[in-house]
Amino acid sequence: MSEWVNWGAPQARPSRYDVLFEPVKIGPVTARNRFYQVPHCNGMGYRDPTALAHMRGVKAEGGWAVVCTEQVEFHYTSEITPFIELRLWDDRDIPALSRMVDKIHEGGALAGIELAYNGMNGSNLYSREVPMGPAHLPVATFTYDPVQARRMDATDIKNIRKWHLAAVNRAKRAGFDLIYVYAAHSLGFLHHFLSRRYNQRTDEYGGGIENRIRLLREITEETKAAVGDTCAVPIRISVDELMGEGGLYKEEVEDMIGLMADLPDLWDVTLAGWENDSRTSRFAEEGAQEPFIVGVKRLTSKPVVGVGRYTSVDRMVSLVNKGILDMIGAARPSIADPFLPKKIEEGRFDDIRECIGCNICVSGDFTMSPIRCTQNPTMAEEWRKGWHPEKVRKAKSDKPVLIVGGGPAGLEAAQTLGKRGYAVTLAEAGTELGGRVLQEARLPGLSAWTRVADYRKLQLNQLANVETYFDSRLTAEDVLAFGIPRIAIATGSTWRNDGVGHLHTMPLPIAEGAQVLCPSDVMAGRLPAGKRVIVWDDDHYYMGGVMAELMAEKGYETIYATPASEASTWTRNTMEQHFIQKRLLEKGVTVKSFTALDAIGAGEATLSCTFTGRQERIEADAVVLVTARLPNEGLFLDLVARQAEWADAGIESVTAIGDALAPATIAHATYAGRRYAEELDGEPLAEGALPFKREITELLPID
Ligand code: ADP
Ligand code: SF4
Repeated sequence: MSEWVNWGAPQARPSRYDVLFEPVKIGPVTARNRFYQVPHCNGMGYRDPTALAHMRGVKAEGGWAVVCTEQVEFHYTSEITPFIELRLWDDRDIPALSRMVDKIHEGGALAGIELAYNGMNGSNLYSREVPMGPAHLPVATFTYDPVQARRMDATDIKNIRKWHLAAVNRAKRAGFDLIYVYAAHSLGFLHHFLSRRYNQRTDEYGGGIENRIRLLREITEETKAAVGDTCAVPIRISVDELMGEGGLYKEEVEDMIGLMADLPDLWDVTLAGWENDSRTSRFAEEGAQEPFIVGVKRLTSKPVVGVGRYTSVDRMVSLVNKGILDMIGAARPSIADPFLPKKIEEGRFDDIRECIGCNICVSGDFTMSPIRCTQNPTMAEEWRKGWHPEKVRKAKSDKPVLIVGGGPAGLEAAQTLGKRGYAVTLAEAGTELGGRVLQEARLPGLSAWTRVADYRKLQLNQLANVETYFDSRLTAEDVLAFGIPRIAIATGSTWRNDGVGHLHTMPLPIAEGAQVLCPSDVMAGRLPAGKRVIVWDDDHYYMGGVMAELMAEKGYETIYATPASEASTWTRNTMEQHFIQKRLLEKGVTVKSFTALDAIGAGEATLSCTFTGRQERIEADAVVLVTARLPNEGLFLDLVARQAEWADAGIESVTAIGDALAPATIAHATYAGRRYAEELDGEPLAEGALPFKREITELLPID
């Protein structure tokens, strides 16, 4: 008997969706349907090759017709340290890539590789080679590295063509079916040659668009000649840099595409830079790219793929029927739900885990750590922990479980345990499931976050063995009376209102009569009395910026102050910082960086410069403190204090999970819920063993 429960039975699907399951010919290869996982970074790359291979393999299993790598550096003279991508520098890199190709093929998908040469986008911190680009320019890294790229001469151009070709041949040997020529996102030399803002050359590679596309054309022709009729060769290009005529713009890129119309086997069209292409749901709707890519198909007879965080099936169908796209490209929707195509094919719409557009996945790349997803806690754990987004291990006992709290952690634990076959009781103090996501989704720009609760609620509806009780704020007495042997406490957290955060580890002086609020108050509907508000952000993720935005929208004169150098600084990792600060400024918020809050008085606050300590007193009717949270651990601690009574009550374990243990992101909470459910009744870890698998770099003999 299998140890796995495979979730979900096929149902009828509307015939209007059939078009999505038509095969698409891409040059010499054929995609089984129109679902295309475009290249995306994941923070694993060359460091975690087997984990990466399994992650891609699960997408193939989930029905994507094409599954691509992330950027693959094709020569050591251009690498993107500290970011962790893949490498194809020499033959020794082939086995790791072949392992991924094998996993993708096992799942029945075509494997695509995105060969990349970052050029002036990388400082070559590892190889110490001098970066190269079309012109003498500082490297275009957002960390302002004190390094310049040198202008490529004719020999360099010849070399780079040779290196690309060598990588193409290696990619072919690794077994790839699609070999990309990558010219998008301002992230590589080919994009830099296309764009006038980087390419100021006066030779045959600079000037008019015929010259600026010359290198892209040559490399594509050489790639096509090398692969013959074995692989497809897509070009990935950005149709707009959103800088007007100062950068690449739609009309210009359409002319470029027109000149190379049928040269590649597929056009993969994006926006540049990456932050514009992968905007969070706070700053872009599903399909925000559509106006930019709408004209591409009339320029070519080859298939066109594009992205837009598409999760609406009718929208996908309309893109195909209207002749805008041939294939539905996805990075984030395929991360949140690697089985999206299969679920659509099988008519299992209630099982779709829609991406919420938070970009926690992107933060994996920016923090060089394995990709995490708010919606899909199994992401990057497929091999490390043996988790699967759609399969769970059967229950190993018939002992029931009580979960207290229906936020992301409790909901994920409940649905996963329910699928495993455990009898689950879920007790929620409120009248709705969702916990913090319900509250936060009411804040400006965060409405898509309800999807975290929506998916899990729809799963619970299908699980007769999970019983949910509302209006059930449980006490230790209640829990002991239930006598359920295993208990997970997922009671969440509350924002602090004493100023303790990153900067102050001790409470702030707050005068009597001072008006102080925290996000928990505001989300509960309390607004400051008066006109002038200081939002002090010592949390640095989204909440401080959102509070300031809300205050400005409500008509308060709003001062946003933070000890950091900029608003919501951690959101650099979700590629939102720029958009957040722009929005605050446009809404009239005064942004004060490098600013500490020293004390709060009645009708005023004392702020100081984080460098000099120079203080200023500012009149303010209220201060909204966005600093840190405290776990709602009262119930957990009460139960721990009454451990002597557990045996009589039939209780074996009480475990705090999610924010109730230590407040963090929603992604941490869904992960914590999943982990609790995956590990229940699991084999105990051997002394000294790690709870995940890892790979260690092979040691070469010392000569
Ligand atoms: P997490 O992100 O860890 O899931 P949340 O704050 O989103 O945490 O959710 C916590 C949930 O727990 C909320 O819906 C809250 O109403 C509920 N809750 C808190 N205390 C209790 C309790 N004693 N009994 C039942 N539910 C509770
Ligand atoms: Fe979507 Fe957020 Fe998951 Fe990324 S982390 S795939 S944006 S839900």
